[in-house]
Amino acid sequence: MSKRDYYAVLGVDKGASASEIKKAYRKLALKYHPDKNPDDAAAEEKFKEAAEAYEVLSDDKKRERYNRFGHAGFKGSASGGQHMNMDDIFSQFGDIFGGAFGGSGFGGGGGSRRRMKGSDLRIKVKLTLEEVATGAKKKIRVAKQVLANGVEYSDCSTCHGSGQVRRVSNTILGQMQTSSTCPTCHGSGVSITKKPTDADQMGMIRKDEVVEIDIPAGVEDGVQLVMRGNGNGAPIGGVPGDLLIVVEEIPHAQFQRNSKNIHHDLYVSFTDAALGSSAEVPLLHGKAKIKIDAGTQSGKLVRLRGKGLPSMDSYGSGDLLVNINVWTPQELTKEEKSALEALRHSSNFKPDPNHDERGFFDKVRDLFT
Ligand SMILES: [Zn+2]
Repeated sequence: MSKRDYYAVLGVDKGASASEIKKAYRKLALKYHPDKNPDDAAAEEKFKEAAEAYEVLSDDKKRERYNRFGHAGFKGSASGGQHMNMDDIFSQFGDIFGGAFGGSGFGGGGGSRRRMKGSDLRIKVKLTLEEVATGAKKKIRVAKQVLANGVEYSDCSTCHGSGQVRRVSNTILGQMQTSSTCPTCHGSGVSITKKPTDADQMGMIRKDEVVEIDIPAGVEDGVQLVMRGNGNGAPIGGVPGDLLIVVEEIPHAQFQRNSKNIHHDLYVSFTDAALGSSAEVPLLHGKAKIKIDAGTQSGKLVRLRGKGLPSMDSYGSGDLLVNINVWTPQELTKEEKSALEALRHSSNFKPDPNHDERGFFDKVRDLFT
């Protein structure tokens, strides 16, 4: 991969002064800061690229070497910035932002500054059983607290950026020093020097964001998914909260869910049950045909293997259990009545549950073993 010219990266010309370089880097670091661009790999690359360019151009010796040899001047050396990780970058910030970004916030130094965290957001996502079966991508509009654009910071003037205020008091044991959280900045160590008019005291604004949520197949009603860092933003130097997604299942008109299995009530006519037939049953995606054996009793269960739902924590899918109900006609014409009357006393029409030596409950047990 070819590297971009460091001057081009920072958008300054070759003769730029140290303060111009610093200013240019400050602007880029604010723009591409990971807090403002969560989960944005392109922004992270730009952030690192700018840090690397600044690392070289802010050092007179390195800058001179770069001017003479270009990127080749740093081949195989660790001092050119090519090996900077995020920790290196954040610890470099002390110099640029007067400590506003460094310190305890990013594990750079061991300061006492409090790292602010954005609050978690909770939303509900409604899913059909069809979506549960396949998993779903949902775009949801979320109202969030985010850091406003154009916010500028400096060290808090009360605590000078430490986030703590010290008080010395005279006691009988001598002088005692106590420290407590700075009341002005609430421990963040920074104060806002410039912010848009619609931003609050911390430089935050409310903004609608569309979040794409990837919901895995097999989730159940009440399951909570977590998207780290997608909650409310934090004031500068802090970390965003999480987005909690609670799954809500929309009841299905044709199926009842029982964990991985789904149940469907199928009604067949009295004559189809007696004479045998076939019937169509709905699936979550598509349809299937099942055979209705002659002499089928109401309550018979037909299992369609693998036509249920996938499981979030095990392999394979559940089954579709078709519960057959024999429909007894509720209105009859004169002709139908007399046809049935002729059969009323026929011995085959007399209930005889023991005719089949394996009863209904045995059959149900067979289905589940
Ligand atoms: Zn303060």
